[in-house]
Amino acid sequence: MRLLDRVFNGSTTIYEQTVKAVDEAIAKYGADKAVSLPDTAFALPCYYAVTGIKVTTLGEMKEACEFLKNSNTREQRLADGFTSGIATAIGAEFTETIKYIEGNPYEEPIVAHFSDAMVRELGLPLVTEDIPGVAVFIGEAPSTQELCDLIKQYQSQGIFVALVGKCIDQAVEGNAKLGFNVRCTPLGYHIESVVHIVSVALRAGLIFGNITPGHNEELKAYTMKRVKAFVNAYAPVDDVTVAFGAGAIAYGFPVISNDTNDLKPVPKSLVIQPDTLKFNATSIEARDVRVKISNVDIPVPYGSAFEGEIIRKGDMKIEADGSRMDCFELVQAKPLADVEDHKIEVFGDDFDKYEDGTKISMAIIAEVAGKNMQTDFESVMERKFHAFINCAEGIMHTGQRDMIRIRVSKDAFNEGFRAKHFGEILYAKLKSEYDAVVDKCQIKIYIGPETTKLRNELAIPAFDKRDERLGSLTDENVDEFYTCILCQAFSPSHVCIVTPERLGLCGAVSWLDAKATHELDPNGPCQIVKKDHIIDERVGRIEEVNEAVKKYSQGALEEVTLYSIMEDPMTSCGCFECICGIEPMSNGVVIVNREHTGVTPVGMTFSELAAMTGGGVQTPGFMGHGKHFIASKKFMKAEGGIQRIVWLPKALKEQVAEKLNATAKELYGIDNFTDMIADETVVEGDPEALMNFLTEKNHPALSLEPMM
Ligand code: SF4
Ligand code: ZN
Repeated sequence: MRLLDRVFNGSTTIYEQTVKAVDEAIAKYGADKAVSLPDTAFALPCYYAVTGIKVTTLGEMKEACEFLKNSNTREQRLADGFTSGIATAIGAEFTETIKYIEGNPYEEPIVAHFSDAMVRELGLPLVTEDIPGVAVFIGEAPSTQELCDLIKQYQSQGIFVALVGKCIDQAVEGNAKLGFNVRCTPLGYHIESVVHIVSVALRAGLIFGNITPGHNEELKAYTMKRVKAFVNAYAPVDDVTVAFGAGAIAYGFPVISNDTNDLKPVPKSLVIQPDTLKFNATSIEARDVRVKISNVDIPVPYGSAFEGEIIRKGDMKIEADGSRMDCFELVQAKPLADVEDHKIEVFGDDFDKYEDGTKISMAIIAEVAGKNMQTDFESVMERKFHAFINCAEGIMHTGQRDMIRIRVSKDAFNEGFRAKHFGEILYAKLKSEYDAVVDKCQIKIYIGPETTKLRNELAIPAFDKRDERLGSLTDENVDEFYTCILCQAFSPSHVCIVTPERLGLCGAVSWLDAKATHELDPNGPCQIVKKDHIIDERVGRIEEVNEAVKKYSQGALEEVTLYSIMEDPMTSCGCFECICGIEPMSNGVVIVNREHTGVTPVGMTFSELAAMTGGGVQTPGFMGHGKHFIASKKFMKAEGGIQRIVWLPKALKEQVAEKLNATAKELYGIDNFTDMIADETVVEGDPEALMNFLTEKNHPALSLEPMM
């Protein structure tokens, strides 16, 4: 049968199934029944992205079935195979949404629908190419072992994996690690669940690309260019899968299959690879995925997919817990003559000497030397230890400085992971990621009592000195700021201006990071912005900043201010840690972080607030920003600063309390400012209740000038 006929067959099946499901749902719940997928501001995201229409009730869904009919039925013959494929995906979105009417119908390990916050979380690793691509598996692999090997191969390359169908059982059987945190997500057992990953790709276009919903051609161009996804479909591939495949291809995602019976290759789009052992190489070539090779010489797999892996207490061999025992990690710049490249020394007893589950004292010191090395880069490199170490499978790392917690799992230990391997990881990563400044690097690892002495005599004085330096870094007393345009990979006109008191909105790029990035790659994303011509000190309007923004946004932006949320605020790409929005009744602002799912007093969730801005456009009244910006003296300085903050999620409030209170005391003489800020334990989604709370606390925002 012709491929196109198979697409029409498959899409007709899905169409009929969709109409039936919608009719049944209407019979059961009524046409007015509200429908949505959880934690997204984009209604039914695929249908909305493609048509610009938001479906909010079953009745509207029924009307929308007309669109599917016109796009995909064989009788109509109006549409080409691609449109038909897109309609197939949208039909699946409808039936999946119906399943969510009475709450999440899926159980572990099925992920199915991704929240907007999850999509946003993927933003940064996608732009840094720590996630260089997305692999979607469909069907049953020839064997469990083969499947698990391929998953691991993708994970080691950083490629995000999504599983559909029988391969999920195989992955479970083969003990593959599953979950969003390890970037291997089972979408569902039925083929329709593939729509959940399509939804991620299309929302990336809306969130990061600022594509107007309904502009499907632009959306296609966007995903084709920027979203490096592909499909691995195991034989036999039925008509319905072929129809979904046509949808994938429409957005630029090639399908690689071993079905030699019923499929004919289509150049660049449908690749037949009879040997499933070659799926990895064939897929990477077909989608042109750029894989970063990390040559880390350790006995466990290494890759960004393992970064979010959690090691439970019962699974650990040892734990270096800085809150209980003396532990620390430290980078020190040394003269070239004092460093022997790739020397790794372990002092004290290795892990073999300890019972399972023991807490140990451990210090990891990296001594680096290089002609271009600066002491300012020590902290930049040290903060990367977290990501570097976490990428080893079976190793978990949290915290920094002397408040680290490192767990080595029994599995990793049994594979041969020992103390010196921390040295191998850090050596390899520091040398490769900071090659322009690190000429030589040696690592010392201390286990046991000696750590305490080193902590007190070496590490703490070094940290204190560094804090002093950081404290002295203000926007006023440096000569230059930096741009960051890393996110242009997904938000083509977005530019961050990074200053000592305003870090990048992703939270990952401080002024020192930007400075180091510039040093490492002078033509890279971080360029120097002078600040000699200040136009307006109050809002932070600077001639050179405007010039930089105009240049690096290719003219999309004319002016931004550094310290105002109302007048030409800085743009947001989409990967911001927090979103801040004005709360009109109190004259203040609410801030909500990505992790918080509840509703804010302005009646919107993180996802809904986040959808108000993004894609590199300016939206007065809304601003994406990093967590550390909250306690900054420059936070909304033009509008009265941190005194405007009236509501924060409790967990976030606790994280920033110490610094926020210190700033409030210093600038406004307010004691315990965070006690005046409401959170979800006192107010959720109710501005009246918020006002009562603020009045009772005599919150300073109430007596400030109106913002609008
Ligand atoms: Fe993206 Fe801005 Fe962070 Fe750079 S600083 S990675 S542009 S959010
Ligand atoms: Zn971004």
